[in-house]
Amino acid sequence: RSTILRIGHRHDRDQRVTTHVGLTGRALGADGMYLAADDPGVIGSIEGVARRFGGSFFVENNVPWKRCIREFRESGGTVVHLTMYGLRIQDVIGEIRQQEKVLVIVGAEKVPGEIYGIADYNVAVTNQPHSEIAGLAVFLDQLYEGKELDLEFPDAEIAVLPCKCGKEMVER
Ligand code: SAM
Repeated sequence: RSTILRIGHRHDRDQRVTTHVGLTGRALGADGMYLAADDPGVIGSIEGVARRFGGSFFVENNVPWKRCIREFRESGGTVVHLTMYGLRIQDVIGEIRQQEKVLVIVGAEKVPGEIYGIADYNVAVTNQPHSEIAGLAVFLDQLYEGKELDLEFPDAEIAVLPCKCGKEMVER
């Protein structure tokens, strides 16, 4: 199991990226996202998609990140911080897969320095700078070894039917 903690979100600059962090996490098997900022608009957009497309993804607004990490760990979870400065994902993902539940921290512009010390694993998806959305996607795919691509989303109001050309949807 995996849950996302999004830190460093800036209200006007990061709304689209944070929304995509949530949607990507949901699509690729995370069970929810804690947002360490106050942005009900972002929460509402993700919840809207989650309601229409099914499944049980949750989003929580305005979460104090230190408490979130402490409580996650107290409940037996492992804390993974995605950063270009971390250990190579290919070297540590096997060990991380053994953990029952993982909190995946992704930053925005710059994360507080303390996070590096608090995390159980600082993990790099390549040691090159790129994006939290891409980093999260590759991390979840490696964690679930591709099985997340077969996930089903129960109780959907809308479902897409795979189609060679064009768009096919069913509405319930
Ligand atoms: N320059 C910032 C810093 O030094 O903290 C990071 C900016 S980056 C646009 C935003 C987030 O993307 C980071 O906090 C990290 O979570 C993620 N990220 C970027 N490149 C990454 C990489 N190579 N591996 C893993 N995560 C990465």
